[in-house]
Amino acid sequence: MGNLVAIVGRPNVGKSTLFNRLTKTRQAIVNEEAGTTRDRQYGKVEWTGQEFSIVDTGGWVVNSDDIFEEEIRKQVMLAIDEADVILFVVDVQNGVTDLDEQVATILRRAKVPVILVSNKTDNNDLIYSSAEFYALGLGDPFSISAISGSGTGDLLDLILSKFQKKVEEIVDEEIPRFAVVGRPNAGKSSIINAFIGEERNIVTEIAGTTRDSIYTRYDKFGFDFYLVDTAGIRKKNKVTEDLEFYSVMRSIRAIENSDVCILMLDATRGIEGQDLNIFSLVQRNQKGLVVVVNKWDLVENKSDKVMKEFESAIRDRFAPFVDFPIIFASALTKQRIFKVLEAAKEVFHNRTTRIPTARLNEEMLPLIEAYPPPSIKGKYIKIKYCTQLPNTRVPSFVYFANLPQYVKEPYKRFLENKMREKWNLTGTPINVYIRQK
Ligand code: GDP
Ligand code: GDP
Repeated sequence: MGNLVAIVGRPNVGKSTLFNRLTKTRQAIVNEEAGTTRDRQYGKVEWTGQEFSIVDTGGWVVNSDDIFEEEIRKQVMLAIDEADVILFVVDVQNGVTDLDEQVATILRRAKVPVILVSNKTDNNDLIYSSAEFYALGLGDPFSISAISGSGTGDLLDLILSKFQKKVEEIVDEEIPRFAVVGRPNAGKSSIINAFIGEERNIVTEIAGTTRDSIYTRYDKFGFDFYLVDTAGIRKKNKVTEDLEFYSVMRSIRAIENSDVCILMLDATRGIEGQDLNIFSLVQRNQKGLVVVVNKWDLVENKSDKVMKEFESAIRDRFAPFVDFPIIFASALTKQRIFKVLEAAKEVFHNRTTRIPTARLNEEMLPLIEAYPPPSIKGKYIKIKYCTQLPNTRVPSFVYFANLPQYVKEPYKRFLENKMREKWNLTGTPINVYIRQK
């Protein structure tokens, strides 16, 4: 189960600079569209072979100069609830401010480990100035310069050392783990209730760790599955419910611990930024996806045409990943609830698809011959062989080429689309790699 680190602190202390520095190596690998806001909110960090997630609480604020103290307070409280380690960033060139003290007051009471990060320590003299942060009552300030990167390696070591050993919950790998995600009021609690009915239908409550158990196993309508983090979804927090930050923090954990995410959209509202952000979290974690257009009972014109338009609008917004089930449902009337579970189960199976090498080559090589990668600088690119990699999280394929560096993204997408036409890979991300023959 993944660890989550939250960066908190008042505006302009260097939170986002630190976030970028810590996530940089990884970001370059995942090949995201550059510069979208969601890249500033959530990222993955890899350090000495360990991976964890990190959120910048400041990334949610549109204009950080105008931020209200109240809002910072809410974000800090939420970070305490959800994160495994908190990085409390202060600015050594500015010294202790009132707002720092207010944040420190909240953090001193927290049970989560807090690392006090004295940023902008660009030279040795400033290390001495850091001493004034002892007054915050959060232990030794850890001096770094996010801009130059100095101290950040040691900071990462320190973060890893603070993660508590988690008791792994024992789950049956054969049984799918579903997470219901979506923005507030999309109908997550309602659909969960529709899935499971009364509390007494719970098959087993897995003995949890110190926190609430994150998996609950159900056996309903002939489906055997775990629901991830339903307690977190049901435990509503009036103070923070309205914040996008809240729904994203809550979602991260659920998504990371699932196989398939059931993304709830509100039919009466269309697709908004928040939906896309949650979708992007699902994508980045390479989880399976089923989209539910909920509250379908409220839509007056339910013609095929309207449905088709809805579908293509969704796929347009989620492109280039478009191969996933979309179910028009109502958590209230329970219309198509069964279909949602059915689709989620199918996606779970698609994630474990194995295509025998002989079949893969038989189908794909003639296609490649007919539509070869475009030649570049007069050089012909030949792909002679392909195979699926064993033991991967999602189906991953290697195509061997004489000049792999010349096979570009559009051609990889072409290969992906053709595989999706030939095999049932609906709802699961797949990876296509080109390697040297
Ligand atoms: P945030 O509002 O807390 O996310 O702060 P930003 O990351 O946006 O940084 C605020 C300002 O401080 C920017 O101008 C940064 O370039 C600057 N800054 C961040 N880290 C450092 C640092 O280590 N040293 C110095 N001198 N400036 C920094
Ligand atoms: P959550 O915040 O995502 O857990 O959303 P809830 O399940 O609490 O639902 C938010 C509101 O939408 C509640 O008032 C529900 O009764 C209502 N709601 C949820 N699903 C449906 C639906 O399918 N149809 C209608 N008409 N209302 C719904």
